[in-house]
Amino acid sequence: MKPRTLFEKVWDEHVVVQEADRPAVLYIDLHLIHEVTSPQAFTGLRERGIGVRRSDRAIATMDHSTPTLPKSLAVIDDQSKAQLRQLEKNCEEFGIELFGLDSPYNGIVHVIGPERGFTQPGQTIVCGDSHTSTHGAFGALAFGIGTSEVEHVLATQCLLQRKPKTLEVRVDGRLMPGVTAKDIILALCAEIGMDGATGYVIEYTGAAIRGLDMEGRMTVCNMSIEVGARAGMIAPDDVTFEYMKGRDRVPQGAEWDSAVERWRGLQTDEHAKYDKRIVIDASKLEPMITYGTNPGMGMGINGKVPGLDSLDDFSQQVAFEKAMLYMDIEPNEPLLGKKIDVVFIGSCTNSRIGDLRMAASVFSGRKVADGVRTLVVPGSHDIKAQAESEGLDQIFRDAGAEWREPGCSMCIAMNGDNLEPGQYAVSTSNRNFEGRQGKGGRTFLASPLTAAAAAVTGEVTDPRSLLFLLRDKAMARFTTLTSHAVPLTADNVDTDQIIPARFLKVTDKHGLGDSLFCDWRYHEDGSPKEDFVLNHAESQGAQILIAGHNFGSGSSREHAPWALLGWGFRAIISTGFADIFRSNALKNGLLPVEVTPEVHKELMQAVQLDRTTTITVDLLTQSVTGLGSLEATFPIDAFSKHCLLEGIDQLGYLLSFDEQITNYEQQRT
Ligand code: SF4
Repeated sequence: MKPRTLFEKVWDEHVVVQEADRPAVLYIDLHLIHEVTSPQAFTGLRERGIGVRRSDRAIATMDHSTPTLPKSLAVIDDQSKAQLRQLEKNCEEFGIELFGLDSPYNGIVHVIGPERGFTQPGQTIVCGDSHTSTHGAFGALAFGIGTSEVEHVLATQCLLQRKPKTLEVRVDGRLMPGVTAKDIILALCAEIGMDGATGYVIEYTGAAIRGLDMEGRMTVCNMSIEVGARAGMIAPDDVTFEYMKGRDRVPQGAEWDSAVERWRGLQTDEHAKYDKRIVIDASKLEPMITYGTNPGMGMGINGKVPGLDSLDDFSQQVAFEKAMLYMDIEPNEPLLGKKIDVVFIGSCTNSRIGDLRMAASVFSGRKVADGVRTLVVPGSHDIKAQAESEGLDQIFRDAGAEWREPGCSMCIAMNGDNLEPGQYAVSTSNRNFEGRQGKGGRTFLASPLTAAAAAVTGEVTDPRSLLFLLRDKAMARFTTLTSHAVPLTADNVDTDQIIPARFLKVTDKHGLGDSLFCDWRYHEDGSPKEDFVLNHAESQGAQILIAGHNFGSGSSREHAPWALLGWGFRAIISTGFADIFRSNALKNGLLPVEVTPEVHKELMQAVQLDRTTTITVDLLTQSVTGLGSLEATFPIDAFSKHCLLEGIDQLGYLLSFDEQITNYEQQRT
């Protein structure tokens, strides 16, 4: 048999009829329904006297027009109320399972599908919403449809479709700390523009994609539509199966095993040919932000808005000028430092638990800037409950952000959550079209880290300046840190093992994260060793390292804490640290947390067992909490604690005595 791509395998499996020069009749496995694009479709069925062919292959939710303020508050207007009531009536009449506002499983349609296990590899999935491409992260062929097509699927469980071409987007390398899945997809949008993948189904491949967890993969596939693609897909692997296992609607027991065996075949065959290929180097990406009125008008956050002369095409020039006028932004200027009014963290692109954890890591111990309204809207009730069990809601509230009920909210501004004319927002959603988030509102799309950084500074900000040490900046503040952790079981890890001596030749303390535990982490040829814990997908984004006993012995090199910070760690938990390492770590804003062997054992075992386990390190109370009831204290000297809490490094502390030093010098002369 001819080698086939992932897309071709799923397509072939679902063609019911293919007549010459006609679109294929494609069978649909799962139909997702919401209140906005379905009422007329049900009316059409009634008018023709047709029933729903397979109500067991459809589920419905309420998300677009639903209030995100507490449920006691009213739906925004009578039209929205009527839509919600109509969906209830339609589902009841046609026997479709509905996750309504009172359901504990209610949420955004593209969040609850995967969350409940409806979304499965190899399926065809449709919904009257263009971001249905999200579900492609599981190796499904998933795409948005119009209301007439909603009616077609309800009536026949099939759609008329012409076969798209295939585009491989290979993302090689590894993302640097502070750069996320959202930045990958915004970078692709910026590179190929809104129509760069029109007529294609994208398959995302490469080490950086494999290194993403399922939430990151969903973020990438979600925005495939923004480059014009029919769908985005990622071949399922162990990360996929690990995410799915045990969810409500996935097969259980022996059926699970045989399903996984079948799904493993959903890989693009060796020698299969894509119609087109694009390659991106993840290690070169920085946090991205859009400046214009479509997701393709984006750039690295430290870049400048392009000039008109960078565009050859006349229609592009017209669109660019119109966008600049609407956004009230000047060409050739940086966006960094631009004042903003609103931050929105939510939508089916970035409202999952990992997104909220990322945002909380920035908000922790900080306050939302004066005059900035910040909404944090979880994607589902499940995510809301999980976030609240981890204390993330409290972090958002303490910072001054609004913690809301689940829903689409300001992604589409149909429920009363919207921008005022002229306001600037940094938003984690997927579209920055004119008026999308409110008439006259102006949207900068970015990752949850970048959005949270803008919330606390009140301006467009490189999130890395708040997360890590940056040149010319004081040390990052450390107050409370809640994160999942990396378990490194080896005892007596020395500084040569943390970062080998050959890296002492570098002239810059930044960028060493890539070389952390270098000799354990990479093969001779530079490829990652898959079994080393730092290379596991679950380690991505972790800010706590649980190290073995006696960590950091050996030389006095400060490169060791630089490398650990460069990777993204902010705290190391061990039963003991070498004195020089402890001192170097504290000087650089890395917190050594010394706990008893009993507490250490409990933490290490829990994290090894479940890599999503989160731990909270609170510097103010010098405590470590987590695993339900665990609570332990750790020692730290008062001066180091003060410096970390205030974000003052030792040079900053010395500089604060400038006046006294000047007086002293004058007395001596
Ligand atoms: S969050 Fe936005 S893109 Fe996603 S389903 Fe809702 S309206 Fe559509």
